[in-house]
Amino acid sequence: MSNARGGCVPAPFPMTAAHAVRPAAAIVAISAQEPCAQTRSPVWSHANPACRARHFQRTILSELSSAHDHDDIVYPSAVPFILAHLACFGALWSGVTATSLWLCFGLYWLRMFAVTAGYHRYFSHRSYKTSRIGQFVLAFLAQSTAQKSVIWWASKHRHHHRFADTEHDVHSPVQSSFFYSHVGWIFSRQHHEFDGSTVTDLTRFPELQLLHRFELAPAILLALACFAIDGWSGLFVGFFISTVLVYHGTFCINSLAHVHGDKHYVTGDESRNNWWLAIITMGEGWHNNHHAYQYSVRQGFRWWQWDPTYYLILGLSKLRLVWDLKAPPQAVIDRSQALPPRVIERSAERLAASVPVERIVQGLREAYANAPGLPEMHLPALPTLTLPELREALAAMQSRAGERLHAIQLQAHEAMAQWHMPTLPTREELTEKAAAMFVKTPSLDAIAARAHDMLLEAIHARLVAAPAAAKV
Ligand SMILES: [Zn+2]
Ligand SMILES: [Zn+2]
Repeated sequence: MSNARGGCVPAPFPMTAAHAVRPAAAIVAISAQEPCAQTRSPVWSHANPACRARHFQRTILSELSSAHDHDDIVYPSAVPFILAHLACFGALWSGVTATSLWLCFGLYWLRMFAVTAGYHRYFSHRSYKTSRIGQFVLAFLAQSTAQKSVIWWASKHRHHHRFADTEHDVHSPVQSSFFYSHVGWIFSRQHHEFDGSTVTDLTRFPELQLLHRFELAPAILLALACFAIDGWSGLFVGFFISTVLVYHGTFCINSLAHVHGDKHYVTGDESRNNWWLAIITMGEGWHNNHHAYQYSVRQGFRWWQWDPTYYLILGLSKLRLVWDLKAPPQAVIDRSQALPPRVIERSAERLAASVPVERIVQGLREAYANAPGLPEMHLPALPTLTLPELREALAAMQSRAGERLHAIQLQAHEAMAQWHMPTLPTREELTEKAAAMFVKTPSLDAIAARAHDMLLEAIHARLVAAPAAAKV
């Protein structure tokens, strides 16, 4: 999310390595976009129509022109994907037989299971264990969906959890367009390679390396089998249509499951629980649950949350084909466990971004220039103002503003216009705001405290970085 690209900020806070160290700088940057900075969701949920329009321009249209540069697309890898879509129209020529329909139906559910139980819950999250043969079968079945190797898939998915909905996320509909998060990212040059250091637990198996090298082999073998079973109808309907349906079912989790649905847990990202996505993806729709505890073999945390992938894995465990199924801690399910520091940091960024920093800074500058009473506070000159001095000054101003407001209420409303005392929300106010913004968590105070510090640092950075402006 680059501020240089437009005035609207769908996610309130860009998370970069630099921002992780210097959150103030991040808020300083974001506050320049204030008219839209308080909107946290993608294009359709911007309250301000102008923002919506600008966000649309920035994302959807730029997608077609240059934002995720066409130069960045690895065209050769996109060709089989596009051909698979075109091959579906072959059904018009071959006709549709009952056998091909059954093949399509069976291969969709079998391979959706391979995606969720294989690519996702086993290879990416190691949420249960199986034998080496079981692992190979899972990898082979998963790769018959033509979604690249299990090594590549797991590496990209682990990266997604690490940076979910920050600008480093490989597929975030909050940071880029819906189209890019759904499918475009797969063909981006920067995502073609993977970080081997994140999947050493997988690359140590030669058979998985072999499958990585010949990543399309399982899909080609399955396509040939479909042709052998039911000729061209078997190929076009049985194989290609089911493959394309599995593609988009899977991709919906990367795109829609970060846009549509409910949040039951504070995860520091935009992951959602969505019942109808859970139906078409065999349980993957409980994506907010999953981001709350990614190591769980279950994604439906409640009995009514439909998760057939888990039921099947549970069945396989009864047959002793898989074991060591990881369950989510009860405290996580009940939301009674404190959030991890990373989630607190990202949530605090979101909270901080909802405060109009720019207005506070402007008010402070004006106060420095004209407001009466400041000399009594012994404020040092801006270039030498330290963070503790600013903290003290803002606290003093808060109290003075309170007194002044009371006086104004008693005396006359017009006095208000002459006294623009800038106030930073107190920690208590931020906690209240956080309670309205996030679902229940015992870490609300920690989020508010961190956001308060971020805001203070941001205000200080702006004031000291541009003290001359105080004279305006
Ligand atoms: Zn996700
Ligand atoms: Zn995951």
